[in-house]
Amino acid sequence: MVAGVGVGGTAPASPVVIQSMTNTDTEDVFGTAMQVAQLARAGSELVRITVNTREAAAAVPKIRERLAQMNVDVPLIGDFHFNGHKLLAEHPACAEALAKLRINPGNVGKGAKRDEQFAQLIEIACRFDKPIRIGVNWGSLDQSLLARIMDENARRPEPKDATEIMREAMVTSALESAAQAEQFGLGGDRIVLSCKVSGVQDLIAIYRELAARCDYPLHLGLTEAGMGSKGIVASTAALSVLLQEGIGDTIRVSLTPEPNGDRTREVIVAQEILQTMGLRAFTPLVAACPGCGRTTSTVFQELAQDIQNYVRERMPEWRLARVGVENMTLAVMGCVVNGPGESKHASIGISLPGTGEAPVAPVYIDGERVVTLRGENISAEFRQIVDDYVSRKYPERASH
Ligand code: SF4
Repeated sequence: MVAGVGVGGTAPASPVVIQSMTNTDTEDVFGTAMQVAQLARAGSELVRITVNTREAAAAVPKIRERLAQMNVDVPLIGDFHFNGHKLLAEHPACAEALAKLRINPGNVGKGAKRDEQFAQLIEIACRFDKPIRIGVNWGSLDQSLLARIMDENARRPEPKDATEIMREAMVTSALESAAQAEQFGLGGDRIVLSCKVSGVQDLIAIYRELAARCDYPLHLGLTEAGMGSKGIVASTAALSVLLQEGIGDTIRVSLTPEPNGDRTREVIVAQEILQTMGLRAFTPLVAACPGCGRTTSTVFQELAQDIQNYVRERMPEWRLARVGVENMTLAVMGCVVNGPGESKHASIGISLPGTGEAPVAPVYIDGERVVTLRGENISAEFRQIVDDYVSRKYPERASH
């Protein structure tokens, strides 16, 4: 487990930690444990599961047990709304099995009950020594707080516009709830904040404000980011700006999977955001040229895809066995124009022949041309070169 994961990384040098969330029914112990394991094996360092019913709360310790049988120790975060105080009171084993509790201050309770139920949640967190994420979400913003802020705004000589008020209400909800949690006895070092919205500019503005006004670790994520490239681009745009400013301790990329799509995609995108920004390294990435009129076959696209899939497949084993392999870089290039140059900058690069070029593919290792591949088996031979390089270059782990 990465240091500080349980809370969110308060030490200045803590790496930004990747979180994901299951979409299985938590009452389904087997299905949820399997998906948690998949997410963890893909690289999720925290996995959140919804805890919405008595049966789900009762399932949580069983999920933890089943994960232990699979040698998966990823911390689980319980996501609570509306009835969290009751579920945790009735199922202490659920609280015990969780590493962190996420509560939404907009969904804790209404009117006079809100403070009482919030206090109960904090008391349980203190009793079981669990950190809390106070997770504000624009879709479930505390309506009484919003009304109060709108009233205050109406009395201003120059009232703010609706966007500014929304942002102010999000930040206020998070900070007031955190202050209240501290009043109820939770240590400030046991609190993480998040304020999720679906607009990129709103997210950036809100987190800048939060970072300026508090020292709590912040969990970043664009909520309801959407499907496919839209979700990836929106999340990347928002998170990159904030991460570049040093804002954010944990991140989640909330992608809507295609029907029956792979849930682990959100973990891979989160890793790629951090790795392409140079903040962390997870998996060797393949640099590939986009192709142009000089490449009239799909050979190099196929090889680039094949190699990226191959290193992803091998990485869980390599990561356990070898030190530093995540820093390896690979290049698959389409022709002689930029091929040799880019290939020389990679740990291993291959420059495939463009249209009209001799049907040979020089391979460069650490900047030196070492072999020339040709014929039908280029992909298999290149994979073998990658395997040999990993064995030679990256020392075995002492414990392996
Ligand atoms: S390396 Fe060659 S094939 Fe690739 S984009 Fe550049 S000119 Fe085109």
